[in-house]
Amino acid sequence: MARVYNFSAGPSMLPIEVLETAAAEMTDWHGTGESVMEMSHRSKEFEEIIKTAEQDLRDLYKIPDNYKVLFLQGGASAQFSAVPLNFANGTRKADYIITGQWAKKAYSEAGKYCDAVAAASSADKTFSYIPKTTRESFRSDADYVYICMNNTIYGTVYHELPDTGDIPLIADVSSCMLSEPLDISRFAMVYGGAQKNVAPAGLVIAIIREDMLGKAAEITPTMLDYAVQAEAGSLYNTPPCWQIYIAGLVFKWLKSIGGLEAIKERNEKKAKILYDFLDSSKMFRGTVVPEDRSLMNVPFVTDSEELNAKFISEAKKAGFINLKGHRSVGGMRASIYNAMPVEGVEKLVEFMTAFEKENG
Ligand SMILES: *Cc1c(COP(=O)(O)O)cnc(C)c1O
Repeated sequence: MARVYNFSAGPSMLPIEVLETAAAEMTDWHGTGESVMEMSHRSKEFEEIIKTAEQDLRDLYKIPDNYKVLFLQGGASAQFSAVPLNFANGTRKADYIITGQWAKKAYSEAGKYCDAVAAASSADKTFSYIPKTTRESFRSDADYVYICMNNTIYGTVYHELPDTGDIPLIADVSSCMLSEPLDISRFAMVYGGAQKNVAPAGLVIAIIREDMLGKAAEITPTMLDYAVQAEAGSLYNTPPCWQIYIAGLVFKWLKSIGGLEAIKERNEKKAKILYDFLDSSKMFRGTVVPEDRSLMNVPFVTDSEELNAKFISEAKKAGFINLKGHRSVGGMRASIYNAMPVEGVEKLVEFMTAFEKENG
């Protein structure tokens, strides 16, 4: 069977070159006679894999030296608890911007451990925009401000970061990780689940400024204590070795195509093809205000539930899979992460054009 175009929000497509390398190395990694899946995480071979992956990530994101890179487990969702446990340690105040379900979940989890408030929200219009904030939106003595940078379900993104003054800014970048350059020095921490843009599920990558570490609440589970993980070089316990290996291959792939500037250009091209079509179509329309549109997740609808369902089903038959919107919002969503080729979006738009003609 030919490979399909997978528009899933995650787990999602990986670059074909990466899958092919992984397949070729599956049973014998670099002449060791063993698979990375079978390798000791304490071996010098695995040390090379994890160190190289970290260095390549540092090169791609130009990560300053005073930041630690951690390879963690528990999904992005485990960090919803780890963030307040590690960082709400001064005034114990944490300000959250609610831009969708993932931010909301992080916020309610924080409420268990500290004085968390919703500083702004776009819930009034089904999270179809990024709420405007100023420094005055935040408590000046807050321990941190938390955002979800790209809202996977609703398809919005911060094109400009909120101004938080001296307050440390923490961002969940799960669904936009490595999709374009990012000035890491603007953040106290960014983190993301790898299954959207980087690797198979089971790995979280966190980039944390060193001065943030070492002040976790006493009740913090050891596994969620970032200082412990940093001290151990992400090897406090057995890490997700295979996922780290694949992430490393994805970093090499990104470097080979020209790094984050190049992938940004490619991502902008893909998004433009789809948004231009949605803006000109009489049947389909995007659901997000134009200025806050995501490059990665593109939700859209028709005016009829019946047509939506017919579209999703016919698209699937034509090899465009996982176009159904999140169960909480319905409609459609095309996730066009790094590994989705330009051609996949072009063919989807051709398909949508034909569908509109036949059903309009
Ligand atoms: C997918 C996603 C999550 C949840 O990730 P898990 O690894 O499944 O916990 C959190 N935040 C964002 C922005 C996501 O896209």
